[in-house]
Formats: sequence, C-alpha cells, structure tokens
Amino acid sequence: MGDERVKNEAMEIMGVFQVLPRLVVFDLDYTLWPFYCECRSKREMPSMYPHAKGILHALKDKGIDVAVASRSPTADIANTFLDKLGISSMFVVKEIFSSWTHKTDHFQRINRRTGVPYNAMLFFDDENRNIEAVSKMGATSILVRKGVNLGAFREGLTKFSQNFASVERNKKKWRKFSQKPESSENEEE
Ligand SMILES: [Mg+2]
Repeated sequence: MGDERVKNEAMEIMGVFQVLPRLVVFDLDYTLWPFYCECRSKREMPSMYPHAKGILHALKDKGIDVAVASRSPTADIANTFLDKLGISSMFVVKEIFSSWTHKTDHFQRINRRTGVPYNAMLFFDDENRNIEAVSKMGATSILVRKGVNLGAFREGLTKFSQNFASVERNKKKWRKFSQKPESSENEEE
C-alpha cells in the first residue's frame, strides 16, 4: 500500500471516533523504523515501516500533533535519519536520549514542553516496560509488534476513546459526589 492510500485509510479510521488524542507520541527503533539506529551509519538511507509515513501525514492533516520519545543513545543518527526521511519538521517535540527510566522522564519533558495532559496523549512503542510505565502516567499506550501500522493505529484510537470515556465517567461521579448537598445524601438518584 502506498503512503497516500495508507494516509486515506488512516483518515477514515480517525473519522469514526468522536474523541481523538491531542498528541500522538512515537518511539523510533522498531516502532517507526525496523532497526536500532545506533547500529547504523549516518551515511545510510533509512527506510520506515510501510504504514508509518502515511499515518504521520494523516495525523498532521487532522491537526493532531506528533512527538518522538526515544531512548536511543545516538540522537545524532536518529535526527539525521528523521531529516533524510523528510519527517523531522513534523514533530512538535523530539525527546531522544538514553535513560534508566522507562520513558517516564521523556514524557515529563513532553508534557512540560507541550502543555498536553497525559490523558490526551496516545503512545506507540515496541517495549512492554515502556508501555507499562507510560500508561501508569495516564497516557494511552499501545505495544506494537511489527512497527506502527493501521491495525495498531485503530487499536490505539479505540483504547484512547475507551480511556477517555472512563475518565469522563469518573469526573461526573466525582462532581456529583462533591456537589451533593448534605441533606440529599440519602436520596435516590
Ligand atoms: Mg523501540
């Protein structure tokens, strides 16, 4: 499938959902491209997973910001590859640095720099420990097995809207609880 067809399909998928993330965050190695960039040379021409570029362009067209969270120890190679692929300027934030945490510090920085709350973020990564850590922060996090593709994209948006709905339900419950006058405490709903 060409980039344009993937993009159109991604647009169609997004059209189904009433709520969408404000920011979609991507890991790089084995999420956007099928290799560890620390094992490659800057002189090479990299390629991405087949659906990755189309999905990025669809998000951009839809007005949804995209960001990078990578623990790659070779930010210079990663940035060179993003430039070569012509996608570098698409990202509002790129946090690329090695870290002992499972990307919690990456996400704290992304949150600080964009002002987007964690529960308005959707995150794709191929490592389960990152997915676990970041989902605990409140971002909807999706494990990808063969890179980001339309299937993972749909799964991510579905899970995001489910999480959003449960947050809204809890907010409503809390509002009801906190605004309830004392005299009505025993009243039926
Ligand atoms: Mg990775």
